Amino acid sequence: MKLNQPLNCHCSNDKPILLKGSNPLSPIICIDCKNPVSLENVNITNKLKALLGKWAQIYHSIFTLWSDSIEYKEWAKKQLLDETGEINIEGLELAQQLNESRKIYYWMFQDVSDKNYILPKHCPFCGASLELILNNDFRVCHPCKVAYPDKN
Ligand SMILES: [Zn+2]
Ligand SMILES: [Zn+2]
Repeated sequence: MKLNQPLNCHCSNDKPILLKGSNPLSPIICIDCKNPVSLENVNITNKLKALLGKWAQIYHSIFTLWSDSIEYKEWAKKQLLDETGEINIEGLELAQQLNESRKIYYWMFQDVSDKNYILPKHCPFCGASLELILNNDFRVCHPCKVAYPDKN
């Protein structure tokens, strides 16, 4: 194995994937093994690939401001938490388009290090109850295709 070579998912192509902008290797990871999923296995157009790359870059910049800065930390957290803010709306739209070729859930950032964080019982978008998927430490809304992390 080459160093710095991202480990790719080798699960079957019918496994759902996650769109998680904060992931350092790739914004598209397998919902089961959590490794990056090769975009060839997602079957997306070049246009969508470009949009996804651009979105991931911006998402990651905001995420870095949250995780690594002091001065911009609160600002960045607000953007990431805002379900109807630009970065999440764009992410949700991308996920919706990707979902046409492969089942995908959109990872909704939560500050799990915040002791006041509690996993919502119901989906903030539609009110359905959030459900476990595989053996993961997060829950999803199946109709809205969003994922919320459990408390640490
Ligand atoms: Zn996998
Ligand atoms: Zn929902």
